[in-house]
Amino acid sequence: MINWEQVNQEVRQLLIDLIKINTTNPPGNELEAAKYLQAVFEREGIDSTIYEAMPGRGNLVARIPGSGQARPLVLMAHLDVVAANPAQWSHDPFGAEIDDGYIWGRGAIDMKGMLAMETMALLLLKRSGQTPGREIILAATADEEAGSEQGLEWLLKQDVPGLLDAEYVINEGGEGKLEGGVPVYACQNGEKGVLWVKMKVRGIPGHASMPSSDNAIIRMAKLLSRIGRYKPAVSLSETARGFLSGMAQAKGVRISPDSANLDYSLRLFAARHFKNERSVQAMLYNTISPTIIRAGEKTNVLPEACEATLDCRLTPGETPEGFLGKLKSLINDASVEWEILQEAEPTESPINTELFAIIRNSAQTVNPKALTVPYLSPGATDSRHFRKRGITAYGFFPVILSETELQRMHGIDERISLTNLHQGIRILYEVVKGIAGVC
Ligand SMILES: [Zn+2]
Repeated sequence: MINWEQVNQEVRQLLIDLIKINTTNPPGNELEAAKYLQAVFEREGIDSTIYEAMPGRGNLVARIPGSGQARPLVLMAHLDVVAANPAQWSHDPFGAEIDDGYIWGRGAIDMKGMLAMETMALLLLKRSGQTPGREIILAATADEEAGSEQGLEWLLKQDVPGLLDAEYVINEGGEGKLEGGVPVYACQNGEKGVLWVKMKVRGIPGHASMPSSDNAIIRMAKLLSRIGRYKPAVSLSETARGFLSGMAQAKGVRISPDSANLDYSLRLFAARHFKNERSVQAMLYNTISPTIIRAGEKTNVLPEACEATLDCRLTPGETPEGFLGKLKSLINDASVEWEILQEAEPTESPINTELFAIIRNSAQTVNPKALTVPYLSPGATDSRHFRKRGITAYGFFPVILSETELQRMHGIDERISLTNLHQGIRILYEVVKGIAGVC
């Protein structure tokens, strides 16, 4: 029998110790946190290896061997955190103080809280003395907050056994929230694609006292107003359908799954209930946000060019190439010069999997009213590196967060409640046991 009181204390201590190791990226210095975890695992007889991408940039991989009946499960977490300015915080961001039922500190949510749970789950599995049906790997990586070049991206190029043979990955990217009193856990199975593109128009330079009909800024303003009027059609991915159906259930709205007008009903439901929820709206559309505009040097000189940078995010089914074509026909001006700055395909893992079912059941075992819904996130996590290799990756952080708690992530006074930490480790261990095939 597991003594959950003792587990709660242990997971708390793990999180406190991890927050106190300052892994602000840059510079990261994740090696210290990796060494800390290695010592924890060593005490319990769990094998682990540190892979150092550059001096100080530690990545740790720990593993519990399985019987080989199925391919590995990888529990992912990043060791680094974003900067915190102590002057703005009410608690020391690296003090990990317990106050008012919360542990306060940078990384409490993003994502040392999850890392503490994953570490604890590995310890519990090892202590159970059972051999899992598949290898269970924990990969704690560096540099996620700055693009993962010294972290997962680098690690996947090393010959780390098991990582790329994985069947499943669990990572950050999906949390739970209360919807009308019902705890709804988002299991993030997809991420929108990215197209960053620069458009440039030219004008005739000259003295501004004698205006030209060919002013680059005025030309660009006209083109951007076309983007401002852009009304994209809803594109419902499998994930968005699953999300909206689950949310309808949480809100007690009846939508029959085999209705011939299912998509229409779901769109109507989204329009009624999530009109102002930008993260839900982002799931339904390809979006275009102009973010940078540049032209001109001097007040009395007509600019020779004007450039605008657009951040486009794409739903599953769309490609960066395909969307660029749509963008060009929306702008409809052959003289525009286009430059692609960055592109990434959307990723979507299936949800009709054993792991998704186990996650749903595990959340319910611990929290009987809980619902689990798929989720497409507008931003990207490291999961994309696995999904594009055909590995099923889910963002599943088993905690219930309010809107303000979420805003503290990357913000001021980040914290996690002890209730979340204690409930989270129970859910996560249920998941790990389930997919490991142990009791
Ligand atoms: Zn994160």
